Amino acid sequence: MAVKKYEGIVVIEIDEDKCDGDGECAAVCPVDVFDIVDGKSHATRVDDCIECCACVDACHVKAIKHNTC
Ligand code: SF4
Repeated sequence: MAVKKYEGIVVIEIDEDKCDGDGECAAVCPVDVFDIVDGKSHATRVDDCIECCACVDACHVKAIKHNTC
C-alpha cells in the first residue's frame, strides 16, 4: 500500500503501512477531514483542512505527514 497522497490546498500523506486505522486523526480533526475505510485513514476532505496539525501530533504510529506542519 505504502504512502497515499491527498493534494488540495495542503498536501497530506498517509503511510498506509503504518496506519492501523484506530481513528485518532479523525477524532481530533476539528473539521472532519478524515474517513476510516477498510481499516485505513483517508484524508477525504483535504480541502477543508485548517492546518492545525492536530492529526500529525495525535497519530501514535506517525503515519501522517502534512506539508505545513
Ligand atoms: S491539520 Fe488539523 S484540520 Fe488539517 S487534517 Fe489535520 S487535524 Fe484536520
